[in-house]
Amino acid sequence: MMMNFDFTPEQEMLRSTVRKFVDKEIMPYIKEWDERGYFEPSILKRLAELNLMGVCIPEKYGGMGMDYNSLAIVCEELERGDTAFRTAVSVHTGLNSLTLLQWGTEEQKQKYLVPQAKGEKIGAFALTEPNAGSDVASISTTAVRDGDDYILNGQKTWISLCDIADHFIVFAYTDKSKKHRGISAFIVERTMPGFSSKAIKGKLGIRAGNTGELFFDNVRVPKENLLGEEGEGFKIAMSALDNGRFTVAAGAVGLIMACLEASIKYCHERKTFGKEIGRHQLVQQMIAKMEAGLQISRLLVYKVGFLKNQGRRTTREASLAKWIACDFANQAADDAVQIHGAYGYSNEYPVERYLRNSKAPVIYEGTREIHTIMQAEYALGYRVDKPLRKTLPAWSPESVTL
Ligand SMILES: Cc1cc2nc3c(=O)[nH]c(=O)nc-3n(C[C@H](O)[C@H](O)[C@H](O)COP(=O)(O)OP(=O)(O)OC[C@H]3O[C@@H](n4cnc5c(N)ncnc54)[C@H](O)[C@@H]3O)c2cc1C
Repeated sequence: MMMNFDFTPEQEMLRSTVRKFVDKEIMPYIKEWDERGYFEPSILKRLAELNLMGVCIPEKYGGMGMDYNSLAIVCEELERGDTAFRTAVSVHTGLNSLTLLQWGTEEQKQKYLVPQAKGEKIGAFALTEPNAGSDVASISTTAVRDGDDYILNGQKTWISLCDIADHFIVFAYTDKSKKHRGISAFIVERTMPGFSSKAIKGKLGIRAGNTGELFFDNVRVPKENLLGEEGEGFKIAMSALDNGRFTVAAGAVGLIMACLEASIKYCHERKTFGKEIGRHQLVQQMIAKMEAGLQISRLLVYKVGFLKNQGRRTTREASLAKWIACDFANQAADDAVQIHGAYGYSNEYPVERYLRNSKAPVIYEGTREIHTIMQAEYALGYRVDKPLRKTLPAWSPESVTL
């Protein structure tokens, strides 16, 4: 496959569809939803109607069959509206559906992936616990085999779509003595007895999103819902994050775009010392950093999509893209507030929301520090990726429909 920096007509059409949707159905309401801390569920239904909940899932599993960079386009444009809805697509498609595509049995794909790709059911991803975030092996949720079932006990926290999702990929120890090699992955349904959820209040940002705790009180999960093999959970979680990080990085590109749009507009409107503030070189420096951040991050993101399209592993590249794009987005949002002066400090303008929203992506799906360490370890040769038992399928151009 040749290197090509152009988008296809189908990708351009997709971008325009998502942009119109965001401008019409998110932008006019997001300030109020954010203020109220309200997640508007109809947005996911509308995304499903537009075929956007499984954009890169093959048609045979209910998706749109577009390439992996099309998922990046959806995430980029959604986060231009608000981080909450991009986060929803990241967990639903990036962390859950693509993981089912990579690791699921045919039966699991038919039962869970197909309705998720169509947007009829919503998927989420439950790894983090009160005492285990970056240090995944410290989780304490357990899954004990009992006849044809596993019985899950434990608690997860900071789970996106905790009250919304129908299906969760949940990580639990089946054998604690094996350390991270004793973690297994399960598909858990919200309706399974013993399952409950509770939203977290008082978040800094992504207030229009739903994030919270999950509780497993003797939840009986049939053995058919074991994803991969016993003990493969850690590898499954890490491979899911390769896809999730790609979508988070793409979303960060959208946030930089939103910061630039708002800042350029304000630069032309606001005058000090007899000229537009955009004429002051120190303001230009902030705009230039945003522009550089946008272009650099985009290249990193679309390179990951390019590799995914060929069926290649992207752990190293997705980590780099996620780290750099989220840092640039955080900086762009900080500068956007600065450019707006005192007005940037109130919700009269959207940039204060951008700044609050830009922080979580620097923390979730691997903190800035974890990605810094990963990149150093790759460069130093301390970290080498071994082939996985199951790989994400390459994209086949024949499957595109629009
Ligand atoms: C809005 C939001 C949504 C989320 N959604 C989900 C979700 O859907 N599913 C899910 O499973 N989780 C989710 N998370 C949780 C997120 O993935 C974790 O918060 C993240 O992995 C970090 O874990 P922690 O918060 O426990 O921080 P810790 O791991 O306790 O880290 C605390 C600090 O120590 C630093 N640190 C830790 N270890 C090292 C090290 N080895 N070297 C240097 N520094 C280190 C970290 O970088 C950080 O600064 C979400 C979080 C947020 C904020």
